[in-house]
Amino acid sequence: MRIGFGFDVHRFASGDHLMLGGVRVPAPFGACAHSDGDVVLHALCDALLGAAALGDIGEHFPDTDSQWKNAPSEKFVEHVCRMVHERSLGIVNVDVTVLLESPKIAPYKVAMREKIAHLCRVPIEAVSVKATTSEGVGFVGRGEGVAAYCVCLLEELR
Ligand code: MG
Repeated sequence: MRIGFGFDVHRFASGDHLMLGGVRVPAPFGACAHSDGDVVLHALCDALLGAAALGDIGEHFPDTDSQWKNAPSEKFVEHVCRMVHERSLGIVNVDVTVLLESPKIAPYKVAMREKIAHLCRVPIEAVSVKATTSEGVGFVGRGEGVAAYCVCLLEELR
């Protein structure tokens, strides 16, 4: 068994939605990012890469590479899952915590779990998405951005 941990932050910019866990969440702002700024999928990628000791998201998808400009983060997850599989590792479970002051994302959590399960090819029971505010404290609390933490467990398949 191998555990992995990932963390990501994006600051808010003008826009009308956030991408979180591959799900479009309407908001009075967007995420400032080279890609679609999906902190959930970015933290997930880093957790998976971390568990497999395969580097980090910045190494594999550099923001200097035009092929990833405005890329949907689902592409990152698919690529990382292929790398994990080629390393003969299987995903046991993933657990995400999103830090966001507003909007409330409770109505979108099941859709995020379904999307992540689909991308990782695991049952939805293997995927947890939790949300919390930052109680008005820090950059999340001031409504300056969004953050996500992710842990995952991988198992050796051979
Ligand atoms: Mg990111």
